[in-house]
Amino acid sequence: MLNIVIFGPPGAGKGTQSQQLIDKYHLVHISTGDLFRAHIKKGTELGKKVVEYNNNGILVPDEMTIAMLKKELDDNPDAKGFIFDGFPRTVAQAEALDRFMTENGTAIHAVVALDVTEEEVRRRLQIRRDAEHRPDDEASKVNRRIEEYFNKTIHVLPYYAQQGRLTTVHGIGKVDQIFGQICNNIESARQAQA
Ligand code: ADP
Repeated sequence: MLNIVIFGPPGAGKGTQSQQLIDKYHLVHISTGDLFRAHIKKGTELGKKVVEYNNNGILVPDEMTIAMLKKELDDNPDAKGFIFDGFPRTVAQAEALDRFMTENGTAIHAVVALDVTEEEVRRRLQIRRDAEHRPDDEASKVNRRIEEYFNKTIHVLPYYAQQGRLTTVHGIGKVDQIFGQICNNIESARQAQA
């Protein structure tokens, strides 16, 4: 199995790079943001509970997020591996993810953090707002998401760094070049663990 976490602030390019990683390594993509949006669109019970958090750029409480993720893992017993995009966003989520991996006799093999400046992130989210009209790409909501990232999510980095699982990739430049760097980091992490 190959399990990867792709990490970075909103607008860092996690979704774009995930798509390329899926094609190359045939992984199951778990994007908690996409999952929440799908629940909201379908009007499920979970969707009704999370819509306010989601639209306002506030993290959904860990309990709901972790339960949704666990279900997604259980629904994909034959996966060759997973790419986690937008999860974990808190240390509690990172701990839960490790627990689930251990229970399944596997592990997170690499954590790839996309390093992008706040200025660049704001620029990209503005472009996406004009193209996709996501409610949480509105200017005031973007501020909130960036705050959530720096207040809560950033603490996940030392969690993985202490375990020697963190790799960083400069996330500004050509998509293919960034992808090449990500692949190099994944291969090195795999070899180190072999
Ligand atoms: P971004 O472009 O900000 O990375 P996502 O599509 O990953 O956005 O997530 C959108 C929203 O979904 C978040 O602002 C939050 O409300 C919710 N969400 C997604 N993943 C998580 C998570 N792991 N923990 C808590 N909330 C989450």
